[in-house]
Amino acid sequence: MQSCMMDFPLSLVHLLERAGALFPKEEIVTRLPDKSLHRYTYADFYHRARRLASALQKAGLQKGDRVATLSWNTYAHLEAYFGVPVAGGVVHPLNLRLHPSDIAYIIHHAQDKILIVDDVLLKLYEAVREQVRLERVIVVPLSGQPVPAGLESYEDFLASGDDDFAYPAFDEREAAAMCYTSGTTGRPKGVVYSHRSIVLHSLGSALPDALNLGMQDVLLPVVPMFHVLAWGLPYTGVMTGCKLVLPGPHLDAESLLELYASERVTKTAGVPTIWLGVLQALQKEPTRWKLQPMEMVVGGSAAPEAMIRAFDQFGLKVLHAWGMTEMSPLGTTSRLKRHLRSDPEEAYRYRAMQGLPTPLVEIRAVGEAGVVPWDGRSLGELQVRGPWVAAGYYNLEEESDKWTPDGWFRTGDVVAIDPEGYIRIADRTKDLIKSGGEWISSIDLENALMAHPAVKEAAVIAIPDPKWDERPLAAVVLKEGAQVTPEELQAFLEPRFAKWWLPDAYVFLEEIPRTSTGKFLKSQLRERFKDYKAKAQP
Ligand code: ADP
Repeated sequence: MQSCMMDFPLSLVHLLERAGALFPKEEIVTRLPDKSLHRYTYADFYHRARRLASALQKAGLQKGDRVATLSWNTYAHLEAYFGVPVAGGVVHPLNLRLHPSDIAYIIHHAQDKILIVDDVLLKLYEAVREQVRLERVIVVPLSGQPVPAGLESYEDFLASGDDDFAYPAFDEREAAAMCYTSGTTGRPKGVVYSHRSIVLHSLGSALPDALNLGMQDVLLPVVPMFHVLAWGLPYTGVMTGCKLVLPGPHLDAESLLELYASERVTKTAGVPTIWLGVLQALQKEPTRWKLQPMEMVVGGSAAPEAMIRAFDQFGLKVLHAWGMTEMSPLGTTSRLKRHLRSDPEEAYRYRAMQGLPTPLVEIRAVGEAGVVPWDGRSLGELQVRGPWVAAGYYNLEEESDKWTPDGWFRTGDVVAIDPEGYIRIADRTKDLIKSGGEWISSIDLENALMAHPAVKEAAVIAIPDPKWDERPLAAVVLKEGAQVTPEELQAFLEPRFAKWWLPDAYVFLEEIPRTSTGKFLKSQLRERFKDYKAKAQP
């Protein structure tokens, strides 16, 4: 029997029209390169996004044409996020922290036709220009300087569009946006999102037990719009009609804290590295910034429990989330079920986990002997499926083993799932330490080390060992002026772990190498310490 329901397309046109009709007075604030604030309303955003769509069509944009961006989090980038897809194009943000040769590879692989670039990033464009073939380059004048001669200004391009633009018809499954993974574990891989997947992801993300975002919020996404669509927050935010605060190129702790205070931000999102900086600034000058109660969404790498506790002291709530480029990206969030709230210690333990799957995301962990039980201990590779999970990479057949024959995506993350359904990520498959046939979780050791008062950061890697195959080595960065010996760190870990888990060696570094998206670059550490001779294991 057929239902009586309409077959209403899930498209970004609906989100844009909704924003223009319902929230015209709400504000969008952008921090410009000179640190001044650019302010306009949803009404302005709506008109300009539609003008961009119209200008693109007049310029000959065909269905599915890729329009790349090389931009910070700004109002113009937001316009491209909507204007390109509603014109039938595919918006493709490029990660400006990658090496120019990687950016060129990605532009080439994605077959980008048009590039919208911030004027303050023109140097980067110059570095890739010779290696790519683009039909058109449009420059956003963010710095207040005139656009260099011979280049096309974004404002002039917008002026070529019409207000009475009519949206092309399209199927909700058509492509709207694409992003490449940051390549932590290999060459960047392209993921193409559809109108449908973005709308469903926005609905899922906004839910109270997910990010809990609504029109009463003031949202500041620190996560860059050039990586996994800033966790979809520009779309989720515009759907809810919240006030948006976009930090532009200024992502240092002081600039962020200033904006949190002056714009009365209630929700922000970023990777742990950003929050470590913010925490240090707050600890140094606890009364300098008058902040609203604010929720900080942390993902991209594991949020150490010590950090969650430390922010609580400032009335700032950390929400731990897990996701991937292949998942649009939201997979899980760690909010507490009612019966897990009463014991504060248990609550912290759960908040440090990656959490429960968002509705419409299904999870399972698979070990060598098949699906592992939800006992909180058995480890297996996390596999997921759902309407905003990729079913394949863009133009990359050889990666098809990332999907199981029964249609699940293999995340490459190793997890335990507890009886409540909360996941705890132990490692990425490539980072696991296999000692004497057993696995040691580097994330567990890192989190425990980061709870030591002298430790700022810790990354634990495997080093080869003739007897045990691999043994853990801890690379530690100390807090300013702090001192600690390997023996003291070992004694600190001892009560928490089985003896064979404890690192064989500690090395003290000035900093831990990172990827373009702020994750520990463990491959580099492994290379550096591959010949390290640790003490013999008893
Ligand atoms: P890349 O694979 O190039 O790093 P992504 O940014 O898509 O690109 O990374 C997704 C990966 O980041 C996940 O597979 C997982 O290993 C890691 N990750 C994301 N969130 C968390 C988290 N909360 N805790 C631990 N690891 C996380």
